[in-house]
Amino acid sequence: MDFSLSSDQQLIRDTVRQFMETEVRPVLREYERAHRFPTEQIKKLGEMGYCGMLIPEEWGGAGMDTVSYAVMMEEVARVDASTAVILSVTNSVASAPLLKHGNEAQKKKYLPRLGRGEIIGAFCLTEPQAGSDAAGIQSRAERRGDEYVLNGTKIWVTNGDISGVYVVFAKTDAAAGARGVTAFLVEPSFPGFRVSRYEDKMGLLLSPTVEIALQDCRVPAENRLGEEGQGLKIALEALDGGRIGIAAQAVGLAQGALEAAAKYAKQRRAFGKPIAENQAIQWMLADMETEIEAARALTLYAATVRDRESAAKDSAEGASRRLGPHASRAKLYASEMANRVAYKAVQIHGSAGYSRETDVERMYRDARVLTIYEGTSEMQRTVIARDLLRAAGGL
Ligand SMILES: Cc1cc2nc3c(=O)[nH]c(=O)nc-3n(C[C@H](O)[C@H](O)[C@H](O)COP(=O)(O)OP(=O)(O)OC[C@H]3O[C@@H](n4cnc5c(N)ncnc54)[C@H](O)[C@@H]3O)c2cc1C
Repeated sequence: MDFSLSSDQQLIRDTVRQFMETEVRPVLREYERAHRFPTEQIKKLGEMGYCGMLIPEEWGGAGMDTVSYAVMMEEVARVDASTAVILSVTNSVASAPLLKHGNEAQKKKYLPRLGRGEIIGAFCLTEPQAGSDAAGIQSRAERRGDEYVLNGTKIWVTNGDISGVYVVFAKTDAAAGARGVTAFLVEPSFPGFRVSRYEDKMGLLLSPTVEIALQDCRVPAENRLGEEGQGLKIALEALDGGRIGIAAQAVGLAQGALEAAAKYAKQRRAFGKPIAENQAIQWMLADMETEIEAARALTLYAATVRDRESAAKDSAEGASRRLGPHASRAKLYASEMANRVAYKAVQIHGSAGYSRETDVERMYRDARVLTIYEGTSEMQRTVIARDLLRAAGGL
């Protein structure tokens, strides 16, 4: 299969690379230390169309394909994985379910602003008692007249203190298990919505991650996304698409780490010669490069499958079921690969790699979450195994 980029996709790659090198890299260390959100940079990326890449032009977005989106994500993460996750959440798990399941009024209200990056989106599924086991969420939504009243706690909400709209999942029927979950579009100004805590994280320090308390949070009934009971399906579908972005984020981070390691290996001298002249170092670099290429191919393939499914306008459920294992394979391999590559990049730097003065130290910390969020590696393996066993006639 040919993964060469079209001229438009090459232009996206070059434009984003240039932007990240000039607008983000110079301030990255300072922002990381201050845990500072890259407000100006996200605003500019929004104006360039990168906050709403997958939103069609008729709804105010850039109307681009998933391969272009993966290319953008890789280039952003090559310099900074925090900026990448901010873009990933608003582009995929926040905007995509709204585009697919929103009614005309909801799309009109939120999509153009999301598409232009005037507001950022967030996705609230995880709770203190339920992460991988999403059907186990305990938040409740009770219909009272023309409102729903939401109660519960959401944790690990990326973009949690800066979003204009949150896709929130809560149970409208606690007895119905997975079929009792419903999705809502919640604005931070709705009564009873409160950012109750900031997560104190290992990495991704430019990206705010928060806990949200919903205490009798009043959501207009018109802000229910899809039908009652459809919420878990909406969430899982969104995550299938989201995982392509996380795979691309992993490829970009690994590419950045490899470039830093190769540069350092040529500069650093030991025993009278550059360390790059040692076969041990060359083999590490060769393995890093090979694994990155493999992960990039899996990621672009999953993106191509998504684009093909969208173009075929298949039934939403069918398309998502076919995409799921492709997205999981890309996310599983790319996220674990990025951790191996970041580990080797630190190793090649020696003690310098353990210093906060180097990029690879930050990349090593940022890589760790890739095998955890948007579904752990164990959950990806479950999706992949179920699919292959189903194809082999079931268990
Ligand atoms: C930086 C960051 C940002 C995040 N952003 C968001 C966000 O924006 N929105 C959101 O909703 N969530 C977000 N999350 C949450 C993330 O998606 C969850 O952490 C993830 O789904 C795992 O859930 P958990 O942490 O509760 O782990 P658990 O589900 O408790 O799992 C713990 C361990 O048990 C394993 N395990 C669980 N069940 C099984 C099983 N059946 N078989 C084998 N192993 C199993 C897991 O793989 C894992 O290793 C974020 C998390 C982080 C760290």
